[in-house]
Amino acid sequence: MATWASDIEKALNNLGGTASYEDIYAEVKSIRSNLPKSWKQIIQRTIQDKSSESDGYKGNEDLFYPVNGLYSGVWGLRKQYSEEEIKKLLFGSEKDETTTFEDIQRKFEHEVNISINDTKEKRGDRLNNANLIPKKIQTTITIYSRNPDVVAEVLLRANGICEKCNNPAPFIRAKDNTPFLEVHHIMQLSNDGEDSVNNALALCPNCHRELHYGI
Ligand SMILES: [Zn+2]
Ligand SMILES: [Zn+2]
Repeated sequence: MATWASDIEKALNNLGGTASYEDIYAEVKSIRSNLPKSWKQIIQRTIQDKSSESDGYKGNEDLFYPVNGLYSGVWGLRKQYSEEEIKKLLFGSEKDETTTFEDIQRKFEHEVNISINDTKEKRGDRLNNANLIPKKIQTTITIYSRNPDVVAEVLLRANGICEKCNNPAPFIRAKDNTPFLEVHHIMQLSNDGEDSVNNALALCPNCHRELHYGI
């Protein structure tokens, strides 16, 4: 699993090299799932441990620098990364043969971000020249073989009611007339979470998306 330091590096890269704590928190949150309770303090401590300007500097890697003095709360990446190094940081080694869904998703979101920040003209030029038939790629991905009994038990436990917002499922599945709820792992399987009833919730699609993408 990625270290906090490398996730903070990724976050600062995504944010253009410098950012406030608040922006770093939001970006790390989008990169890293299942944050522990004290995650903001962990981020602060990691940055300070790895900044030679800080009193907390541990003396090894010197990755971050305070942009407007130590107390401004704005931090920058000391190192300027080449395009290749950024790719490596974001997507792992080029030679890595296994990719997770999250890697593909993250790469796509990164590209959307680049496009949003580009000019309307450049984006328009690209859209005008774009291939309208999407390219198919073949890739090796790691997926988890989930236990169907866990999903069944959690859906039965929820009995059609979202276990987060307590509202009824928004619609009934056409194929079998069951309420549409999705089973979500509280501690994700990719972070060594258990595939157990206790680690799972039945959620409406809104709550499910919010847990994955919300603030
Ligand atoms: Zn809900
Ligand atoms: Zn989920």
